Amino acid sequence: MADSRPIAAVFDTKSYDRDYLSRETGSASVDLRFHEFRLEAETAAAAEGASVVCVFVNDKATPAVLQQLAKYGVRHLALRCAGYNNVSLKAAEDAGIVVTRVPAYSPYAVAEHTIALLLAVNRKLYRAYNRVREFNFSIGGLVGFDLRGKTLGIVGTGRTGKLVAQMLKSFQMKVLAYDVHPDVEWAEKHDIKYADFLTLVQESDILSLHAPLTPETDHLINKATIAKMKRGVVIVNVSRGRLIHTKALIHGLKSGHIGGVALDVYEEEEGVFFEDLSGEVLQDDDLARLLTFPNVLITAHQAFLTHEALSEIARVTFENVNRILEGRPPLEGTVLKAPSS
Ligand code: NAD
Repeated sequence: MADSRPIAAVFDTKSYDRDYLSRETGSASVDLRFHEFRLEAETAAAAEGASVVCVFVNDKATPAVLQQLAKYGVRHLALRCAGYNNVSLKAAEDAGIVVTRVPAYSPYAVAEHTIALLLAVNRKLYRAYNRVREFNFSIGGLVGFDLRGKTLGIVGTGRTGKLVAQMLKSFQMKVLAYDVHPDVEWAEKHDIKYADFLTLVQESDILSLHAPLTPETDHLINKATIAKMKRGVVIVNVSRGRLIHTKALIHGLKSGHIGGVALDVYEEEEGVFFEDLSGEVLQDDDLARLLTFPNVLITAHQAFLTHEALSEIARVTFENVNRILEGRPPLEGTVLKAPSS
């Protein structure tokens, strides 16, 4: 009789997740049980019988959910992403669940998507593409601006923020940075200057957000900060939607104060992004309004979506699953919370 192997319940999966995760489990000592729905209070029962639960950015590992998982015998919550604002780490610790993440699957993927968004929104490539497809070869209304000589403000100089800053330095932009933990050596090496948040907001022609969602960064970009920005500022957010107060953003766009917006994340993206809602009535009025502006470009949280990043997410996730099942320490830098016991 075959030995029964531990089960990993994998929530919020799409075809590309299942594809890359399945490829990587060759050497893993778990069987995968894929779920398309997200982990939340109503769905946590689907983890019964599993010893590992694997989640993504919009699953909800609340204290109640974590207690329920612990009751089922789950000992490892493996996040297949970098951000962890959707997990109650204290509750995980109390429940005896180790939480791991994939801190740096490919900062290049995220940084390159940031550059793609910025170039596309500035040069209105999405509008040009649609026009040309309809044999409309006019170029009126597609005027952009040279990046060279403009000031870029980077909020958060971690893995992705640093890469974006370095890439845009090669466009001959002036780069200002703001971080609660500045890396002065890096800044000096790349001729980048740290500034306080207010100075950065006031002096930037382009503002790119790369800080995690924390109580301090929640609605960091709001009515008051937008009012201090230069007229015509372009805002790019690939970090987390809640860094921006959407209604304030809409107000800034309507008044013409904001010149362009490119988002890969959105405050209320849960249940919308990653889904095909093309045959449905969009219920989110703010998102619907954002989509009406000619100077707004939105992608649905796909900055991470490269072959290299998906491979690395799967590799790190299952390396940690194996290690924890075998009683070995997880890969360095991937543990968010390990119960003291
Ligand atoms: P990172 O941890 O390497 O860097 C984050 C930086 O933000 C750090 O330098 C940190 O000191 C700084 N920071 C923290 N609090 C701050 C504050 N209050 N003000 C200013 N700076 C602050 O993270 P990363 O890999 O660069 O990713 C950044 C964020 O991007 C992640 O937290 C995640 O939410 C998001 N992300 C999105 C995608 C996507 O597909 N759209 C992919 C990966 C990461």
